[in-house]
This record gives sequence, structure tokens and C-alpha cells, in this order.
Amino acid sequence: MKNRKIILEEREIPENWYNIVADMPNKPLPPLNPGTLEPIGPEALAPLFPEALIKQEMTTDKWVTIPDEVRNMYSIWRPTPMYRAYGLEKALDTPAKIYYKYEGVSPSGSHKPNTAIPQAYYNKQEGVKRITTETGAGQWGSALSFACQHFGIECDVYMVRLSYNDKPYRKMMMNTWGANVYPSPSDRTAAGRKILAEHPDSPGSLGIAISEAVEMAATREDTKYALGSVLNHVKLHQTVIGLEAIKQMEKAGSDIPDIVIAPFGGGSNFAGISFPFLRLNLEGGKKIRCIASEPSSCPKLTRGVFRYDFGDTAGMTPLLPMYTLGHDFIPAPIHAGGLRYHGAGVIVSQLLKDNLIEAQSHDNLEIFEAGVLFARAEGIIPAPEANHGIATVIKEAKICKEEGVSKTILFNLCGHGNFDMKAYDDYFSGKIKSHELSQEEIDRSIAKLNTPTIPA
Ligand SMILES: *Cc1c(COP(=O)(O)O)cnc(C)c1O
Repeated sequence: MKNRKIILEEREIPENWYNIVADMPNKPLPPLNPGTLEPIGPEALAPLFPEALIKQEMTTDKWVTIPDEVRNMYSIWRPTPMYRAYGLEKALDTPAKIYYKYEGVSPSGSHKPNTAIPQAYYNKQEGVKRITTETGAGQWGSALSFACQHFGIECDVYMVRLSYNDKPYRKMMMNTWGANVYPSPSDRTAAGRKILAEHPDSPGSLGIAISEAVEMAATREDTKYALGSVLNHVKLHQTVIGLEAIKQMEKAGSDIPDIVIAPFGGGSNFAGISFPFLRLNLEGGKKIRCIASEPSSCPKLTRGVFRYDFGDTAGMTPLLPMYTLGHDFIPAPIHAGGLRYHGAGVIVSQLLKDNLIEAQSHDNLEIFEAGVLFARAEGIIPAPEANHGIATVIKEAKICKEEGVSKTILFNLCGHGNFDMKAYDDYFSGKIKSHELSQEEIDRSIAKLNTPTIPA
């Protein structure tokens, strides 16, 4: 029998996270204070995050030790399995060897607890009583609810209204882990009330929900804020994915992959699987292609601009140097809620600017075709977000077939879609349409920016 799964022992859970900043040829530009346009120091973040996470946000150390209690919690679902996708290879009749790392085995069903657990841990260490956050598809809210519950911290989740309505089971999961869940925009915050006054039927967006959660944390003494993507410390925590994957590729007897692929919302699961492989490029002269896959209806990497912008819609965060569509860009209500974010993480943006990584975009219809093909070939039903990565895998595997070459492709199956059945149902009943985002829409959103540009 051929070996399908490549499994590691619990003692092989990484002992350190990998910080790519140490190896980047061009370090990320500093975040700026939106008032003074001066680089911000750690004190600017202190109302929102515990000290330990601010330190991780700014560190240039190459390795950061994973606390024992975090590794112990990781052992509930880590190391995650890697699969050889024999079924998908056969369905595509491709000479490519396809592997995937499966993060859907975590309690909440995606890669998000990899950072939720350490974030809750450091907040607990510093005596924080309540954490506020936003959630798009519900994945991050569930992960943080699970983590806060373990550490005895209260958790308030602002959930993008579109998902709140479409995904009642995600809300119930969060409630099961003891969290309070509010649809966003809500009337609990000034940011939410302002949006509702202009757009009473607003489906919400991650940017709006972030504004609400940040406002609540900034105005309460015992409350901090947590973010499930975009920030450097989030990417740092997710590197356990790629660090395990390198060991698993070795164990599979396969050399390192030629191509590493992951879906892209703010960049955390892409960073998680790709940064440890990029280290092999930066340090060891390898030429692994790392490709981020985004929706064509929210194409910040492939059609956005590289400049300073706010991380949220209301403009409450520091200015971050990143690829962006403009902070008040509201993407079409596609089902891959976790990818409906206007910007991209700072580190990933700099890597793309320096041509050290690549990006591709895929249409909404194409990604469901890809997801259903995958589910039928491999069994696991992917999260709609993950379908974007699968669409890129299929595209690259077809190129291998045309060219008659057998490349090794690794991708991150960042979550299962068991709570996303409405999305699949919409696809089967023909309600999912191709969505073309016009250049005018993008130009209009970017033209509104009055944030600093970055000289080429
Ligand atoms: C949150 C999420 C994403 C997008 O966020 P990244 O930070 O880009 O990883 C993608 N897929 C799933 C399953 C998610 O939960």
C-alpha cells in the first residue's frame, strides 16, 4: 500500500517559531503615527496588546521560543498531518506530485488556533480580563473563543454581519466556548453607528469589525484586542505549519517542494507554510516558488497599490506599509469571508515588492469548481478560502501536464468547510456568479487615500 499520510510525533512539535524578518534583505518599513507621520514606538500599541506580543511584533530575533504551556495546548491537534494527494493527482492526470498540509484538524477547524492559543496565553500572563476581536468567516472568532475559554479570559467577538447571518453554527461554536458574539456593524460602538447611519443594510466587512473591536479595547482598562491575521506576531506563530512541513517532506523522502501555495486573506496561513521554505531560499539559495492565492473580487496583491494605509475602515490603527485596495474598499459579499480584507500584512507586502514571492487571483466560480473537484478526489471538504489555493494548485498541475514535467507542489489546506455548506449549496444552485471587479472601482477606492505614498 502506498503511504498517503506523513505523520510526526508530538515531541516533534516545533520548539521555536521562525521570524523571517531576521533574513529579509529589505526590512519592512516602520508603521507610522497617522497624526504626526512619525514611526510609532511600542508604547503606541500598549493600549491594545500585551507587552510580550508587542515585543514579538517588533523583534528581529530569528527564533522565538514557544512556551511549554503553548506547546502543550498545540498537542491537542499538532503536529497536523501532511497528505500526498493521490486522488487529486489522478483526477488531474498530472505528472506533478501534490502534497497538502491539513490544518482543519484543530478544534475550530482551521489554522487560527496556532496564534489564538499563544495570544491568549500572553494576555493571561499579563493579567488581561477580556479580549475583543473581529471575525470574518467566523474562523478567527471560534479559535479565539476556544483559546480564551482555556485561559479563563472573557471574549467579545464582532462578527461581520454577512457571516453572522450565513453561518449560525460558527456563532454557536463561539457561544459553546463561552464567548459573546455581536453582528458588525453594531450600535455598540461609534464606528459601527457611523457606518449604520450611512448604510443601514451594510453587510459589514473585516475592516469595519476591526474598528469596532479596537474601539472597545482602546476605551476599556481591563480589555485588550487580538487580531487573527496581518500582524507580524500572528505570522510568527503560524510558522509552526511550515516548520513541521519541512520535516514531513523530508520524511516523505521527497526533496523540498518546487512550489508552495496558500490562500491569502491578510497573509497568516500563507506566511505560516511559506516562510520556513523561504528561509531555504534566502539562506540556502534554493528557488522554491511561493504563491499567494487571492479572490479576484478582493485583489490587493495582484491589483492593489503598495503604500501606507490604515489596517481598519475607520482609520484608527497606525499606518502600515502594505499592498492595499484602500481602507474603505468593501469587497463583494463572496463566501470566502476570511479573504475579504482590503490590505495585506507588512512582511508579506515587502516580500512581494521585492519579488521574493508571487501572487495569483481566482474567480469566485473557479474556486468552487476547484473545491468540489478536491472534495470528490480527496474526501475532505475545504473551506471556501482554501479553495483559492486549490485553484492555484490545479492551474500549476495542469502546466506540469502540458510541459510534461513532474514538479512537487505543496499547499496549505488551511481549514475544512463543514460549516460552509451554505456556500456550497449556493454554488450547486447556480447562485454563485463570476464577479469582475472593474478598474474604475479600484481606482475610485485608491483615489480616496490621503495616506503617504512609498517611493519606488
Ligand atoms: C482566516 C482564514 C483565512 C485567511 O486568513 P490568512 O491570515 O490570510 O490566513 C484563510 N483560510 C481560512 C480557513 C481562514 O480561517
